[in-house]
Amino acid sequence: MAFEKAERVRLLPPYLFQEIDRLKAELVAKGVDVINLGVGDPDLPTPKHIIDSLNKAAQVPANHQYPSYSGMDDFKVCTARWYKRRFGVDLDPYSEVLTLIGSKEGLAHLPLAFINPGDLAIVPSPAYPVYHITTMFAGGESFFMPLLRENGFLPDLSAIPSDVARRAKILFINYPNNPTGAVAGRDFFERVVDFAKEYDLLVCHDAAYTEMAFGGYKPMSFLEVPGAKDVGIEFHSLSKTYNMTGWRLGFAVGNAQIVGGLGQIKSNIDSGAFNAVQQAGITALESDQSCVAEMQKIYQERLDALIPGLRRAGIEAEAPKATFYVWCPVPKGYTSKDFTSLLLKEAGIVTTPGSGFGAPGEGYIRMALTVSKERIEEAVARIQKLSF
Ligand SMILES: *Cc1c(COP(=O)(O)O)cnc(C)c1O
Repeated sequence: MAFEKAERVRLLPPYLFQEIDRLKAELVAKGVDVINLGVGDPDLPTPKHIIDSLNKAAQVPANHQYPSYSGMDDFKVCTARWYKRRFGVDLDPYSEVLTLIGSKEGLAHLPLAFINPGDLAIVPSPAYPVYHITTMFAGGESFFMPLLRENGFLPDLSAIPSDVARRAKILFINYPNNPTGAVAGRDFFERVVDFAKEYDLLVCHDAAYTEMAFGGYKPMSFLEVPGAKDVGIEFHSLSKTYNMTGWRLGFAVGNAQIVGGLGQIKSNIDSGAFNAVQQAGITALESDQSCVAEMQKIYQERLDALIPGLRRAGIEAEAPKATFYVWCPVPKGYTSKDFTSLLLKEAGIVTTPGSGFGAPGEGYIRMALTVSKERIEEAVARIQKLSF
């Protein structure tokens, strides 16, 4: 039998990291000692007090049943408390907070709630691929706004044609940013709120990296800006903050209509996050945050090994203020893909070509700080031996 795939599947580019995983597996099979700086998945374990909390919650029979669609009340209350403590933002836990099975799940379902076929979303480029792909799944189209170095990798909202802005339904933003490592300040978020109000846009801010910052820098929430809750929803995740990518726990907060719309889609698709995982999430958010400071310190040490090493090798890398990504320009004469293949074939180092995140990412590669300092030092030594 031949099962013809739906148009939306045939239109898919190969998922970026799937391709990288395949190349890496090929090299490993050949016996190469591969250093993987390709995927943004923390290598450090989940802190013990969070694992202990899951173990305890997993013993409770009530937790074995279907969870609530929108999330456990206790988890939502605790999320609202965390937002107040961390950002000074007030949230109603029952109408302005939604538990997610990882923030990717929520980001992916949002367009189904708000995009009709033919509608437009304004999407950054380069970016996490989910915003664009799931807009397409909902039948919408993306207008790409380039993130350029000369603008600090912030989109130039004034460059968006007004007919595009008028037609668009959703504006996606993501700071601290994957893949560029850029951060956004209050003035940018204020401009976003003004722009959204002027053009009647729903703002979707992906805030997965607010807790992964260096040198005392504290990224802000979009919702700290006056008026943001009138227009926006913010996605957060426990994945990166507490090394919990495998656990699948995140949340969406903000405008009640937007949160409610996403909740309506989700209740028809999934049945919520495992209660025991939400219980462990409460432990993560409510406990002493020294594990977060420890995580930041480890990434800082890795960064301190990587950046000067790359610079000595002639790569103009700059340290990010937040995220565990280093977004570096490739040497003259190389494309993103050429340079990632050189690093892979000649040095056994997996990196991600910037062009894989969108055309304006051409000329860059992304390195993730997800291996030990010793392995980073080894990577740097290998790169310094290359000639390019
Ligand atoms: C890692 C990441 C997420 C978080 O995904 P989860 O589904 O919560 O694990 C969201 N957005 C971006 C940009 C990311 O890099």
